[in-house]
Order: sequence, then C-alpha cells, then structure tokens
Amino acid sequence: MQRIQFIRNPTAENIGDSVEQFLRALGGPSCLLLEGQDTSRCRGFVTLLHGNEPSGITALHRWLRSGQQAAVNIVCVVASVHSALLSPVFTHRHPPQQRDLNRCFRPPFADEQGRLAEEILEILRLHRPECVVDVHNTSGAGPAFGVASFMDRYHEALVSLFADRLVLTHISLGALMEISDHVIPTVTVEVGGRADQKAHQIAYQGLQRYFTQNDVLGSSAHPEHKPLDIYTSPVRLELPADTKLVYGNTPVSQADLTLRDDIEQFNDGVTPANTLLGWRNTESTIAFKAIDAEGRCAASELVYFSGQELRTRRALRFFMITQNADIALSDCLLYAVSGDGSEILAS
Ligand SMILES: [Zn+2]
Repeated sequence: MQRIQFIRNPTAENIGDSVEQFLRALGGPSCLLLEGQDTSRCRGFVTLLHGNEPSGITALHRWLRSGQQAAVNIVCVVASVHSALLSPVFTHRHPPQQRDLNRCFRPPFADEQGRLAEEILEILRLHRPECVVDVHNTSGAGPAFGVASFMDRYHEALVSLFADRLVLTHISLGALMEISDHVIPTVTVEVGGRADQKAHQIAYQGLQRYFTQNDVLGSSAHPEHKPLDIYTSPVRLELPADTKLVYGNTPVSQADLTLRDDIEQFNDGVTPANTLLGWRNTESTIAFKAIDAEGRCAASELVYFSGQELRTRRALRFFMITQNADIALSDCLLYAVSGDGSEILAS
C-alpha cells in the first residue's frame, strides 16, 4: 500500500503562503524531492514525525518559499501531516489511539504507524542519502541539542550545524535515529520548545547550512563552531503515573508533589547541588525511578528530600524538563547527566 505521496521540486506558488496552507496542500505524509546543484549526491531531511512539533516544517516551508537551490539533492520526508492537521493544528503528537511514529522504526510494522515508518525507511534506503537529519521540538522550552545513538565525527559534524550539545543515548525505543551507522549517519535534532520562535529560527539556520554546504560531514561543515558539549547516556527521572503532580511557586497541599513553576530554566547549563526543585506533601510517598545503564535505580543520585523540599543531590545537567504534568507523568519529568556531562550510575 502506497501511503506517501511524492512531489518533485515544489515551487513557491504551490506550497501556500503559510505553514498551515502548506500542510493542507500536502494533505498527508509526503516526500519532497528537491534537485540540487550536484545531482550525484543526496541528503535526507525528515520532519514532523511528531504532529505537534512545527519547527522543521516551518523551516522547510521558508526554504521552499525562498526559491534557493540546495548544494545536493535533498529527500525531504514530512511525516505526520494528518496528526498536525487535527484541530487545533500542531497539537497532536500522533493520532488518538495510534502509536508514536518515532517509536515505530523497527519491526513489527504491522499497524498503520508501523507501515508508515517502514515506508519512510524504504524511501531512505532507495535514495541512499549520505546522511539524515530528523528535526523535532521539545515540549518544554530549552536550548537546542542533537541526539545520536553513537558518536563519530560525522554525527558530531551534523549536530553542530544546529546545536552546541549532543546527547548520546543507547536506549533503544524504535526511533528513526537508531538506524544510524557509518554508512548513513543519522541524527535527531531537538531545536527547542515547540512554541518558541527562537526554535523556528534555529531550525531554519541549521537547515540552510545543511542544504547549502558542499560538505556537511567534515570538520569544515561549520568551522566557527566550538566543540559540542557531550551528554553521555542520560537517565530519565520518572514518577508513578498516578502521582498528583502540579507546578507552582509554593507547595500545593492537595498535590503529592509540587514542582517549581520556573523549573524549565534548569534546561540550560549546570544546576548546582542542593538546588530546590519543588516540594512534596509529607503525607505522600514519592517513588522516583531513574534506571541507569546497568538497570539499577539511580534516583537517589539525582534528588533527595530535605523535609518537604526536593533538592538536587549534586551538580547536574538537565534537559527536556517539561512543565506539562501529563507528559511528565506519561513519559518522564526530565533527563539528566552529571555536571561534567558524564553518565550517572547508582552507587
Ligand atoms: Zn519529537
């Protein structure tokens, strides 16, 4: 079954004036084939795997409107157009009752989302891109970062087109970037919060480098760039899904746990030891979980309670802290590595 439509060299006129018009013109999952100056090579650009993450398609729309030509051929996959168009636009990560598409890039490909993922993999295999970049937004605000399943200079070069930090993870979830190897280096780039104009700008600037430079895998790809901050094997700090979690600037008595309502600020830089993150209800037991690379719980290496107060155990680098309680409970509160970027292990 063919699900993805192919569009060759769309012109500024047939993609609409706004991103929403562009989405409506596409109408469903699409593969845009853009002919570059050098047609002997090709790069992959994937975006909108999550329908509520607009920066990648916003950047692509802006690029297409600009009428520029890329250095090499670009295969652009715009995936979750249906989810993005569910009203109100850009609010659905995936269709209700269906799987998260970025968890479907490994067999079995039996359901609707699995078949779409399989088709995207087939397109990439067929076109043999020299690399693939997959652009996402985080739900909370924060600086841009790349994610890769292993590191070599190619992955580093790709991420440095967009961001200053690279998260190295070995957690296998079925995400697109897990297909990465030395032949087709593939990275995820999280350009920042999905409601953040700055994230759209980062996506566009990165896309422009990625599309226009002759070499994006060598150290000359972005020469003014400083070495990346590497975040090694982050742990996820999780709470039981039935926890009553709220955000505020003082403890809320009806909640099990109140997190500071300015907690997203800790997505940036190093958070010192003993930093106040929130408050618990002393009547509630809060069972944090943070499974390390050896399968042990390292939560007590991250946080502790001092009376009612929740504080950091040591200097930590956080990312993807969210202020959305639904996401915090269904996915995780945050990701963390040590202050120097190394991984955290249970002692
Ligand atoms: Zn995403």
